[in-house]
Amino acid sequence: MDRRRFTLSAAAFGLSALAASSPLLAATKTKVAAKAASRQPGEPDVLILGAGISGLQAAWLLEEQGLKVAIVEGRGRVGGRIMTLLDQPGYPEMGFNSMGEGYGRGLDVAKRSGVTLQEVGERYRIGPPSLLYIGDKPLTREEWARFPGNPFPDALKTVMPAELVSMLVSKKTRLTDWNAWADPASAPLDISLHDFLQQQGLSDQAIHLAHDIAPYYGRNAYDLSALLAEYNDGFVKAQIAAGPKSFAVKGGNLLMAQALAKQLKGDVLLGREVVAITQASGGRMTVHFKDGSTLSAPKVICTLPFSTLRNVAIEPGLSGMQAQAVAQLGYQPISMIFVTAETPFWEQDGLAPGMWTDGVLGNVMPQRYGEDPQQITGFIVQARANLADYWDRLGAENAKALVVSRIEALRPAAKGRIRAHSYFSWSQERFNVGDFSYLAPGQVKWMADIAKPAGNLFFAGEHTATGARGLEGALESSERVAIEVLG
Ligand SMILES: Cc1cc2nc3c(=O)[nH]c(=O)nc-3n(C[C@H](O)[C@H](O)[C@H](O)COP(=O)(O)OP(=O)(O)OC[C@H]3O[C@@H](n4cnc5c(N)ncnc54)[C@H](O)[C@@H]3O)c2cc1C
Repeated sequence: MDRRRFTLSAAAFGLSALAASSPLLAATKTKVAAKAASRQPGEPDVLILGAGISGLQAAWLLEEQGLKVAIVEGRGRVGGRIMTLLDQPGYPEMGFNSMGEGYGRGLDVAKRSGVTLQEVGERYRIGPPSLLYIGDKPLTREEWARFPGNPFPDALKTVMPAELVSMLVSKKTRLTDWNAWADPASAPLDISLHDFLQQQGLSDQAIHLAHDIAPYYGRNAYDLSALLAEYNDGFVKAQIAAGPKSFAVKGGNLLMAQALAKQLKGDVLLGREVVAITQASGGRMTVHFKDGSTLSAPKVICTLPFSTLRNVAIEPGLSGMQAQAVAQLGYQPISMIFVTAETPFWEQDGLAPGMWTDGVLGNVMPQRYGEDPQQITGFIVQARANLADYWDRLGAENAKALVVSRIEALRPAAKGRIRAHSYFSWSQERFNVGDFSYLAPGQVKWMADIAKPAGNLFFAGEHTATGARGLEGALESSERVAIEVLG
């Protein structure tokens, strides 16, 4: 079964059923029991670093196989990039948002955790599309097509800036099999997204507007591998083919991570910041924490994003492309502000509630997470890449004031009626230092070595996945690493 078909069909089988029935997993059980004998009394067989979804799932898979597992986590909470503001209206998601119908692993995990999933795909589609603002000027699609400052080629004038890159990548993808994106044979395709878009007839000005103002990945189109964008497109298409629905956890996605942690038999130790990982000549692993304490185990799984692992001393050191990836892998800057409105200003001015701007306001996204799907529970205002850095430099309070004043300037009906609540910057989260990992041109070759075990140190996490993205990718990595550890 290829990776894509496995992703899409895992829901039907259920991962737990897979784990129970897999001859590979069953065969490795005896082997592990023998190896596990080398652990000292009280120690786990496997120590997992990071209580994000990949760490939690790897722990569960290994416990299912009879291993003793412990997780250590630097934050005072589990979930990592699953992060809900549980005290705000509608429980806005600052991290993981939703999973599609093709998220076989994600849906299986959600079911096992016992949380209630609600369909949110329909809610995303309610209401008019976001209004485009160029400077202070609101533009409908028709107005944009005729706008003198529209830098897109004639045939693409009606495409909105936020739609253009994904549309071109989808239509013009050079991959016949998106699962082959990281194969060495695809290496000649590993050019920058900028070059790819230029080949489609876009000028620098068009690329700046369509990509660099709010890049999905990378700081700008020179900084992103077109091959990664095409792989992501393949994953998205597979999701669309699986069905139109999207699911999120009722009451907040963080509840799922919390429930998964509760299901584990082993310890989940919070507030334990890893500063070093050492491997003795006999292969015994020791993890060193900031408070001076240590924990040892025969095997360690590291799910730390490379953005934070690069601050952890590893002895003996990693080598080759893996070491390069730990040092240099890019992570997406994203900052967000949650805003609520006292009165529905969009009903007063008759304009779409959402706004995509080319300025310092970023992207204003209505949230419909109340009992009534029509009701707008608030807005997530999002800045990506350079704009996120700019907000971060301003500081939370100044960035909140800026966003409120810009909304009020563009939408006078909102004046005095909106409030900015939490400021959340993924770059400033010391245990993530950025959101999604991404590859720059020429870096796709790193995928061959990125998760290579270094003795008894194993690697997992979304950055190591090659067949799925986001949460589903993180879960894919848990399966791969569990099999490696067992084998
Ligand atoms: C804004 C945003 C929106 C997203 N939307 C979606 C979406 O709609 N769909 C989707 O599929 N995916 C989405 N994702 C991606 C998804 O959330 C991630 O891919 C997934 O949660 C990553 O899980 P992980 O276990 O690999 O990493 P993480 O969740 O980052 O887990 C790593 C853990 O390691 C811990 N850690 C780091 N350094 C140390 C240290 N030194 N010592 C101890 N612990 C440490 C961290 O605290 C963290 O808990 C989104 C992410 C973000 C941020």
